[in-house]
Amino acid sequence: MCNRLPIQRNGGSLLGFPKGEDCDIITEIVKPIYLDHSATTPIRPEVSEAMHPYFTDIFGNASSIHTFGQKAKKALEDSREKVATSLGASPEEIIFTSGGTEAINLAIKGGLRCNRKGENQVITSCIEHHATLNTCRHLEREGFRVTYLPVDRYGKLDPGDVGKAITDKTVLISIIHANNEVGTIEPIEEIGEIVRNREVLFHTDAVQSVGKIPVNVNDLKVDFLSLSGHKIYGPKGIGVLYVRKGVPFEPLFQGGHHESNRRPGTENIPAIVGLARAMELAEEEMDHVSAREKKLRDAFWEAIETQIEGVHMNGHPRDRIPPILNVSFDFVDAESVILNLDLKGIAVSAGSTCTSGALEPSHVLLAMGVSNGLAQGAVRFSLGRETSQEELNFTVAVLAETIHHLRSMSPTHADNNKQKKKGDLASSLEAH
Ligand code: PLP
Repeated sequence: MCNRLPIQRNGGSLLGFPKGEDCDIITEIVKPIYLDHSATTPIRPEVSEAMHPYFTDIFGNASSIHTFGQKAKKALEDSREKVATSLGASPEEIIFTSGGTEAINLAIKGGLRCNRKGENQVITSCIEHHATLNTCRHLEREGFRVTYLPVDRYGKLDPGDVGKAITDKTVLISIIHANNEVGTIEPIEEIGEIVRNREVLFHTDAVQSVGKIPVNVNDLKVDFLSLSGHKIYGPKGIGVLYVRKGVPFEPLFQGGHHESNRRPGTENIPAIVGLARAMELAEEEMDHVSAREKKLRDAFWEAIETQIEGVHMNGHPRDRIPPILNVSFDFVDAESVILNLDLKGIAVSAGSTCTSGALEPSHVLLAMGVSNGLAQGAVRFSLGRETSQEELNFTVAVLAETIHHLRSMSPTHADNNKQKKKGDLASSLEAH
């Protein structure tokens, strides 16, 4: 794939972005640029190395009592211990699942089934991932009452609203820790404090926060916490549900006695080993990687804001996980931006979902009060541990060119320009 890299004639600092005439565009063959780490991450070499023996030599079933099985069982329990340590939990509180979606379903449905209170109310927010939202919609069809709490214009929930929504029928509260579209970090600790003495179960979807910011189940005061391997440079199809000791809970599936009778099915040992190694590495490197990503991301936004007119950042200005920058562009739709960037070898995503071939405006942005038009024009850039300054320089240059091109073809942009010109003329006539 061929990318053109913008360079600075006079060198430039590590975080300096090329501006105007200081920027030359050169043509160079480089690898494609991946800025979609919140969708998924590549498996780190250290992770695939750790997994490899469990595909080949140590392939036993962890439930078998012979040596092959016992070696697999040891890897399973060592991994459980690593995950537990990383979350501040005990190994018996860790259940391996097939991913974040299953962990979320297990927490919400498993928690509810054991703790019915007649009418049964669930409280969640309007900005959850579909794994939670669609589980809640399904529960509504089964007769549960679900309260969807609003957020402010930065995508942040007011913990006081959670307190006010709790009734004697509330069984479970599920709130996302860090939003996957805009990155806003929710006040889980404060909500945990409110929920603590209310005989209500509390789940958080920590799929986007684990590995990016500190996540400790005791600090967060949660009963359930879900996470996923493929967002932290681990394998896909593996996740974890943390269940606080003593919390009543019913499995979703019936089968063997795996995972202490809570999640039947032969354990996926290579993936479990990979997830545990990925968590270990993420924790070791978090301070350094997160600080670097945040610095790059903020400079990236500054460059976008300086070089392109009509841009709006979506998400909390400070309380946001380091990889995510969500931007709406006036008069363009996100799909065109994504396709044009892809042609130049840059992978980004929309803050929208694709339903029957059409991009629907994101429920998260609409809940934040973003207009329909700007929600349609929202693009999510998500940086990774290997994202470089040069890649971001190139992205800003391509983005500026793309937005200019798309606006030049937009009838609404042309109308807006005409109106603006009329307004300018009227005020200059008035001034005379
Ligand atoms: N929750 C959040 C916040 C996510 O971003 C995702 C994945 O995009 C999920 C849940 C689902 O996780 P998985 O893909 O492992 O099922």
